[in-house]
Amino acid sequence: MKGTAIGGKTRICGVMGDPVAHSVSPAMHNAAFRELGLDYAYLPFNVGADGLAGAVEGMRALNMVGMNVTIPHKVAVIPLLDEVDPLAQQIGAVNVIHNKGGRLIGSNTDAEGFLRLLEGHGIQARGMRVAVFGAGGAARAVCFALASRGAEITILNRTADKAAGCAAEMAERTGRAFEALETNPANLARALAKADLLVNATSIGMAPGADKSPVSRELLDRRHTVVDIVYNPIKTMLVRDAEKAGAVTIGGLDMLAWQGALAFEIWTGRAAPFDVMRRAAARAVKSHEE
Ligand code: NAP
Repeated sequence: MKGTAIGGKTRICGVMGDPVAHSVSPAMHNAAFRELGLDYAYLPFNVGADGLAGAVEGMRALNMVGMNVTIPHKVAVIPLLDEVDPLAQQIGAVNVIHNKGGRLIGSNTDAEGFLRLLEGHGIQARGMRVAVFGAGGAARAVCFALASRGAEITILNRTADKAAGCAAEMAERTGRAFEALETNPANLARALAKADLLVNATSIGMAPGADKSPVSRELLDRRHTVVDIVYNPIKTMLVRDAEKAGAVTIGGLDMLAWQGALAFEIWTGRAAPFDVMRRAAARAVKSHEE
């Protein structure tokens, strides 16, 4: 493996969120920098809501090359940037900032990362009936990606108002109809009976709550393709239950590696070593599981 030591010319990027202690992005990006022999380093920054504006301004002051933005700042960061690219504006969430000569530009690579996950598994979203669980930042990226490819989407969320708000915004921005439902047993049964593809974009099932699933096992069927974008643990309870039901199952690691690879390309202008990044992310998740 190639590599460089940190020195006076090292370019700095990182991730800001709260919490970030379990982020696997530092392992994934630093492995990619080492692989290509790039003089970059990637660091975790635990930034609470009251520190967000200062952290964004600090990127400029410290001449950082870029930053990933994660829970809970993907929406709140938007007004603090100089520019937000059209895709991130439409999704309404930014997960990558690029410092281009002092101008901070926001992008969203979650949506494209999700599409690449689908493509990698040979899934064509066009005409599919999809149940998306969640109405937060990740769910918006997933909904936008699916709608842009012609899927028919039902959003199910614990907080009904957020499901309705997300559906209305996505419908306006994509020109497609969305259904919004509160998550309850009757609505889940109805939505899953007609869905081909199920996507968990809530944080249910994420460690330390790894014994939870957004769907009870009896509702899962061999007709379903089940994607869980939660990647920690690598095999979530939903994926385990869906496997037992005979469904096709896909975990969130590929989306994680793709959104990271796309951010890497924005910052460095180089083709990302996707396989290196995916392996590093998997190793980092497993080390947290142990
Ligand atoms: P977020 O904006 O905070 O949204 C969280 C969503 O989960 C909301 O819809 C929330 O419902 C729901 N939720 C949380 N706890 C719940 C509970 N106990 N019961 C029912 N619903 C619950 O977070 P996010 O950024 O969208 O991220 C969501 C998940 O996606 C995280 O696990 C994250 O790690 C994962 N993710 C993965 C990738 C990847 O590359 N694989 C990329 C982005 C995110 P309410 O509206 O009712 O609060």
